Amino acid sequence: MYRRIVILTGAGISAESGISTFRDQDGLWEKHHIEDVATPEGYAKDIQLVERFYNLRWQDLQRPEILPNAAHQALAKLELEFEGELLLITQNVDDLHERAGSLRMIHMHGELKKGRCPKSQQTFVLREPFGEDNCCTCCIPAMRLRPHIVWFGEMPFAMDRIHDALDECDLFIAIGTSGTVYPAAGFVDTANHHGAQTVEVNLMQPDPHSQFQYHFTGKAGEIMPKLVDTILNGNILGANKCKLAQA
Ligand code: NAD
Repeated sequence: MYRRIVILTGAGISAESGISTFRDQDGLWEKHHIEDVATPEGYAKDIQLVERFYNLRWQDLQRPEILPNAAHQALAKLELEFEGELLLITQNVDDLHERAGSLRMIHMHGELKKGRCPKSQQTFVLREPFGEDNCCTCCIPAMRLRPHIVWFGEMPFAMDRIHDALDECDLFIAIGTSGTVYPAAGFVDTANHHGAQTVEVNLMQPDPHSQFQYHFTGKAGEIMPKLVDTILNGNILGANKCKLAQA
């Protein structure tokens, strides 16, 4: 029976909800080069392009067909019913975990639905799209809000809390992440180092150098409800791996 669980989700968990991932498209995100729309340099070079990009991403997320899927729902159920400690960390900037019912989680790479004051770092839920008129209310003069997104080259949020949880967990599960973006890609090493069981859920077969002890290959929306039930029934994942794979 597990007592402390850390879960890391990536763009793959939202793929079945209709949101594009990064790496599945040769380093393009919605047909843009990552360095143009996901770096401070890209923002400094062309603020309108970056604002338009995040305005469109946020707008996309409001489409009625974009809904949390069975994997998001399974994790919300785990939060509700698991009696030990659970930390859900997402690299995703969408809000599908919240919409599924997850309450306590870390958005380590920020959130599409928020803007941030570049001076005070205070965040604001967006009421209107990014633009020169969308400013903070915390500074004089008011500052133009920037996307509340951690771009490449910037430090993700809540790293101390994340490392404390990884140091103490007995189970670490990474779902739908390519393991190419650091520091999240290194979490498995930390968890292994502290003796946790480490499990990966991904559509793709694991690469031969994978640091995870167990792999479940397939869609997160099909695998996660079974994994969550296994955990809630007080069972250990490795012991049930074959049974899960056949289910
Ligand atoms: P990634 O795009 O690099 O990798 C996605 C991974 O998910 C791949 O390994 C792929 O094999 C796997 N995958 C795809 N469909 C799956 C499914 N149905 N079930 C299980 N696995 C599936 O994503 P990443 O590792 O999260 O890192 C890229 C960065 O992209 C993150 O920092 C994130 O901020 C950003 N991003 C976020 C969103 C979002 O919020 N939904 C979308 C695109 C990019």
